[in-house]
Amino acid sequence: MQNMVILGATGSIGASTLSVIATNPDKFCVYALVANSSVEKMHALCVTHQPVYAHMVNQQAAVKLKASLPAWCKTIVTTSEQDLIGLVTSQEVHTVMAAIVGAAGLVSTFAAVKAGKRVLLANKEALVMSGELFMHTAKTSGATILPVDSEHNAIFQCMPEAVQANLGYCDIAAEGISHILLTGSGGPFLTADLASFPHMSPEQACNHPNWSMGRKISVDSASMMNKGLEYIEARWLFNTRPEQLKVVIHPQSVIHSMVQYKDGSVIAQMGNPDMRTPIAHCMSYPQRISAGVEPLDFFKVGQLSFFEADFNRFPCLKLAIDACKQGQESTTVLNAANEIAVEAFLQGRIKFTDIAIINEQCLVSVSPASLNSIEDIIRLDGEARTQAMLAIKTLA
Ligand code: NAD
Ligand code: MG
Repeated sequence: MQNMVILGATGSIGASTLSVIATNPDKFCVYALVANSSVEKMHALCVTHQPVYAHMVNQQAAVKLKASLPAWCKTIVTTSEQDLIGLVTSQEVHTVMAAIVGAAGLVSTFAAVKAGKRVLLANKEALVMSGELFMHTAKTSGATILPVDSEHNAIFQCMPEAVQANLGYCDIAAEGISHILLTGSGGPFLTADLASFPHMSPEQACNHPNWSMGRKISVDSASMMNKGLEYIEARWLFNTRPEQLKVVIHPQSVIHSMVQYKDGSVIAQMGNPDMRTPIAHCMSYPQRISAGVEPLDFFKVGQLSFFEADFNRFPCLKLAIDACKQGQESTTVLNAANEIAVEAFLQGRIKFTDIAIINEQCLVSVSPASLNSIEDIIRLDGEARTQAMLAIKTLA
């Protein structure tokens, strides 16, 4: 029985994780659920899953949740950052699902890594912000990092055991790998008229053709910043050099990514676009469990197509690849600027095309910084956020 903490329990990945747990109640136990402020959703989850702890980051939400739970529900409600760190590092806990969206997930995810937990990593932003420190800390603490992001989970599955066992530090060329092919659907605007991009609404951007996800990652998918963040995520997880990593547009989202070997073989991982598959893989690795996902029907899929990404259409993808080559300062700044810009777009304060403009403006002024601790990274993240907010004001 694995005791699990789910960070971001009320979100899309949180729901898929709880669904996999419900399919395998003999193997997993919900120890703690963590969310920001959605009291109603958390109330329903507590009543259904009866975790030992429910943690709400927002204090008012914690008070409301506590008052709303029925007397028979013994869940303990907590809210301080210290409580949260206590939960993820608790000796009772074996596995932490890291699925808070954005930089808000860094501190708790990092604490789980430092405590040597088995960390199922959905929160890609944590790795984009702190990649080197994150992987180094996992190596020294003995934490196991398992990639939940469907592409990275696919790549992981297509890798030889030697790479899986030494994530972040393996020489993939020495294992016979020539390229990692990171696939992406191209999102809802893959074929939209470029002239319509400035007028795209948040609802249009969040209307992904294949995946149902939270709003931030949905906008990132429309701009293909998501693929850019994933490029950086892959760089750290698989210790790649830029020439080893290629982005391939594959609109059907049936192949979730591929690994190309020097003998000409290409190994692909396939399945229906349903996050319960990579989540179940991470939860049970190296075994396999049922995820509750429909088997892939190749006769329904029919055709698979592939083409190159157009940087003119998706400038955010290019910004992220360039930032990755520049280093940690640039990727931390880009992540922060993008979070601020996406939020402003979702609130109707800037145009869709402004996201790339804000990101680029913040990247241009990146200067070298020594990033040796999480505190250093949080400081740079904060500075980039302030700069992005100023850039938004100048736009408007
Ligand atoms: P979501 O918006 O549906 O859920 C976000 C969760 O984070 C919620 O539970 C929310 O309460 C919590 N949260 C937000 N701010 C918080 C804060 N300050 N402190 C604590 N908790 C906070 O997002 P999602 O789609 O589930 O994505 C979660 C993460 O997983 C993101 O990093 C995303 O990139 C990654 N991911 C998601 C998918 C997907 O299919 N949804 C796929 C791959 C990777
Ligand atoms: Mg992904």
